Order: sequence, then C-alpha cells, then structure tokens
Amino acid sequence: MAKLHTYDVLIIGAGLAGTRAAIELADTCSVAVLTKVFPTRSHSTTAQGGIAAALGNMEPDSPEEHMFDTVKGSDYLGDQNQIEILCNNAIPTVYELEHIGVPFSRTPEGRIAQRPFGGHSHPRACYAADRTGHVILHSLFEQSVRAKVNYYSEFFVTELLLNGGTVCGAVAADMKTGELHIFHCTAIMIATGGGGRIYRITSNAHVGTGDGYAMAFNAGIPLQDMEFAQFHPTGLYPLGILITEGVRGEGGILINSEGEPFMERYAPDMKDLAPRDIISRAIYDEIAAGRGINGKEYVYLRIHHIGREAILKKLPEIYKFCMTYVGVDCTKDPIPVMPTGHYMMGGVPTDTMGRVIADENNTPVPGLYAAGEAACESVHGANRLGCNSLVDTVVFGRRTGKDMREYLAEAQRPALPAGPEKKTEALIKKLLSKTDGIRISELREKMQGTMMENCGAYREEKRMQKAYDEVRELAADYDKIALDDKTQQFNTELQEALELKNMLDFAAAVAYSAMQRKESRGAHSRVDFTERDDANFLKHTLLFKTDKEPHTAWRDVVITRYQPKERKY
Ligand SMILES: Cc1cc2nc3c(=O)[nH]c(=O)nc-3n(C[C@H](O)[C@H](O)[C@H](O)COP(=O)(O)OP(=O)(O)OC[C@H]3O[C@@H](n4cnc5c(N)ncnc54)[C@H](O)[C@@H]3O)c2cc1C
Repeated sequence: MAKLHTYDVLIIGAGLAGTRAAIELADTCSVAVLTKVFPTRSHSTTAQGGIAAALGNMEPDSPEEHMFDTVKGSDYLGDQNQIEILCNNAIPTVYELEHIGVPFSRTPEGRIAQRPFGGHSHPRACYAADRTGHVILHSLFEQSVRAKVNYYSEFFVTELLLNGGTVCGAVAADMKTGELHIFHCTAIMIATGGGGRIYRITSNAHVGTGDGYAMAFNAGIPLQDMEFAQFHPTGLYPLGILITEGVRGEGGILINSEGEPFMERYAPDMKDLAPRDIISRAIYDEIAAGRGINGKEYVYLRIHHIGREAILKKLPEIYKFCMTYVGVDCTKDPIPVMPTGHYMMGGVPTDTMGRVIADENNTPVPGLYAAGEAACESVHGANRLGCNSLVDTVVFGRRTGKDMREYLAEAQRPALPAGPEKKTEALIKKLLSKTDGIRISELREKMQGTMMENCGAYREEKRMQKAYDEVRELAADYDKIALDDKTQQFNTELQEALELKNMLDFAAAVAYSAMQRKESRGAHSRVDFTERDDANFLKHTLLFKTDKEPHTAWRDVVITRYQPKERKY
C-alpha cells in the first residue's frame, strides 16, 4: 500500500523556482516540496554567469532597455506583457536576494557589480564570481528551512493526478526505500527544470531529464514552443560542460584555426557578446568551413589576456574546470569549446501568474501552476538571453506562490481517483521483473545521438522526421528494457529508467514541434526555410498528446510595445 500525505500545496522541484514559491506560501498553508535530488543539488546551483537586472551600476540602464533587448533576443516570439513583468521585477528581485544575504561581487564603491552578457546592451549581469546560482539557491534554501517548508528529498514524482480536469495530487517513489507515496493536495506547481539531457552533448546535470514536460504532456496538458532548444556556444570540448558566457563578458574572444577572431564577421557590433543562437551557428559554420582547431569540431576561447589575477578572482570555477577536465591552464592557454545543448525555451504554458494554460484560448487548468525552466510563460521566446533564466525563476516563482495562495482561499481539494498509484506500481514492477532485455544506456545513447545529429542547432525536414521516427521507435523498444539492479533501496538504475521514459516522451515532442514550424527563428534554424516568416509563424506552437500523432494548435504572441523588426547585432 502506498503511503498517503495531504497538503494544501505540492511543489515538484527544489531549484530556484520551486524554492522561491515555497517561501511565499509557507506561512499561510501546508507546503510539501518534492525533489529527486537534495534541494541544493538542483541544476540552479550550477549557474555561473549571473542574474540580469537593469540596476545601472556600471553605466546608465533601464528596465525598458532590458525589455527591448529581451524581446529582440527572443526573435520577437516572447510575450511582451510577460517580458515587461520580468524586467520591471528584476531590480527589486536582486535587491531582495541581496537582503537575504546573497554575497554578490562588488564594485570598488561597494555596489553590486555587473558584467556584460550576450545580447544585453549594457553590463546587466549581477554575479557572485562564477558561482551565482549556487549562492542564490543556498540563500533561498536557508530561508525556506527557516519558514519550515516540508521537504521530501530523493522523492521521484512519476505522475500528476487530476480529477475531472482539476489537479488533486501526484504519485512519487521514495528512492531511498522504493516505497510509493501519494500526495493529495489542492494545488500543484511544476518546477522540475529543463531537459538538456535529450542531447548527446549538454551542459545539463544528469537530472536535467525534463520529467515535468513529460508529466504534464501525459496528463493532457499541452507543451508550448518545444522546438526552441538553446545551444550554448561554449561547452568545454569534448565534454560539453559549461564555460560561462561570463568569460566573454570579462573579455574572452573566440578564435578559429587561423587565429582569427571570427565573430567580427557574424555580428559586427556585438561580436563575441551576440546572442547564443547566433554565436553557436557561427561556430558550426567555422567548423564546416574547415576552420575548427586541428580540423576537429571545436574552436578556441581565449581569455589569458585579461591576466591571471583577474581570472582567478572573477572566474575561479572556470579556471578549475579547465584544469581538472582537460588540463588547460586558461591563464596561459586558450580553452577548447564547442556548442552544447543548454536550455529549453519551451515548456508547460502559463499566464502572468504562473497558472498553467490548457489550450489556445488561455483556459487555466484549475490548481495547476508552473515556473522556471519547466514552464513557458514565454519570456524567452525563440532564444533566451544569458542571465535571464535565473531572474525568470525567482520573479515567476514568487508570483506563482502568491497566486497559489489566493487560489487556496477559494478552492476545495478534489477527491483522488481510485487506485492512484496503480499505473506507477505496474510500471516499476515490470521494470524490476524483466530478466533479459535491452540496457537503458543503449536506448538513451541512441536517442541522444539522433536528437543531436538531426534536431540540433541546424535543422531540415527530413532529418527532423528521422529524429522523430527514431525516437518513437526507441519509445516502442522501452518495453524491452531490463535492469541489472532489482533492489528497492537507492536503485539509481530504476530512476534512470523512469527518466529515460520521460525523455523519450518529450524528445518526440521537440522533434514534432520543430517540424511544424516551417521558418527560421531564434534557436530554430532550418536550412530548408532560412528566413523568419512573421506572416505565418509569429505564433506559439502548442502540442497535445493523442493516441496517434500529436495534435498541434497555435497561440497568439502578445505584442505590446515593440513591433517585429529584422534582428541585427
Ligand atoms: C551549467 C548551467 C549554467 C547556467 N548558468 C546560468 C546563468 O549564469 N544565468 C542564468 O540566468 N541561467 C543560467 N542557467 C540556466 C538556469 O540555471 C536554469 O534554467 C534554472 O536554474 C532552472 O531553475 P529551475 O528552478 O527551473 O529548476 P532546477 O534548478 O533545474 O531544479 C529542478 C528541480 O526539479 C526536481 N525534479 C525534476 N524532476 C523531478 C521528478 N520527477 N520528481 C521530483 N523532483 C524532480 C529536481 O530535483 C530539482 O530540485 C544555467 C544552466 C546550466 C545548466
């Protein structure tokens, strides 16, 4: 028998979005936060470069300019009402973080220091050396512990439960014991982060498997703009570990095998600080033209000219990564880099208060919320600017918590469906009972390979179709997998199997959405449709799961202040 717990609110995910929402709720209602890793090991902790806010500490800046840069960076697909909320709230959010003790790096006068970042027209990234996400998550976690938030750590949520279209709970496996638990609640927030692990080369931690996308999709909730997967230009070659854009913010320059600082040709004004979609494509173009280093699939990122002392002070973690993983001393030698799967712009669609949207008419799903990388409130559109995700998680995490509080004042807790744990129980039983079969790593590597080769930074119809077909075939093969580990306690192989199922589900959605968008916009760059097509595609993709092919609908983009223009840097 599964154990039953009752709470007002269930938050799935203890990264920045989930933790910030939990703090907002803890004093007025009962809150449970479920997380598959210890809270401070959430991917937010790896964020290096900074959090964007137009504080204007280095030169004059304003939320309006932040908004314009973000709209332009999004290739005009971001919803401008949401972007305005983000940029206006960014400043109080950073001050709030400062007041709870986040140790931001400082200017000589003692103000919060800010460094330049890609696509931002002023130095706007507030940072704590190159450990920004780590210090923010730890500070918020401390506040949540003080607020007595109930954490269920190493609990893996497998399924959302709905009753007649209203959320009523979720099923989770306690990975420590293998026991199933049912959480009965009035409202749920999906804060499960991103899913870069569908790609062979990625900056994402092992936990970045997009469980929340699959959970929502399988519960009948649409996914929005899933075709927009961001490739960060500077992953450490050959591993894909992130080398923050902060390196270029501090003066780093990309060079090809001829020693040429090639970004001058692709983005004459912003050069190495152009947005990520543009720089990643430039690197691929250089490699395709035979100008990769030693004829291989990487270029160099040079930083030693800013001096050893500055590197050790401002980029200490980067210095260590380069030494540890590839034996390069970046105070003397260039860093080998290549684009790496990094961030999902799409996700579970939400409105301005984090309420999940069920259809193209913006009908909310009662009691269901989402924020952070799992959500698509659409502030990043077709391409996210660096440092805009951390601020997105905290701004919309807080708003979501606030709205959930109001929802709880009116809402009733719906009954649970009969035998809520049966589906998960049957799946786990099957996975643990099979003795002969395919290993999960085999399916996973094939999926990551086809997504990388056929649905990466450059795309075309037949390759995307190939990715979709192959992922669907791999999903059909899922039934044949067998695990070596049949135990109940800390069965990490079982967890990987559950994650693989989720990745197969949402990777297919990425490839399918990508085929629907017959244009090039932001991170979605097609060799068969090379231009942006506002007449036909200035709209959001909504993908619904059906028994056969997914169903596609379209949602309007909100344009308030800035009409679409050609995007030049
Ligand atoms: C290496 C790296 C560097 C980055 N640097 C920056 C930066 O400098 N600036 C910036 O703005 N952005 C940066 N980003 C992006 C940004 O860090 C993330 O988008 C953001 O932190 C995501 O936060 P989140 O709260 O949505 O989710 P996460 O921090 O990813 O947390 C997800 C949570 O969900 C839980 N979870 C997931 N699935 C389940 C499940 N099935 N059951 C239970 N729990 C589950 C996890 O345990 C975790 O607690 C970076 C990203 C990476 C990968």
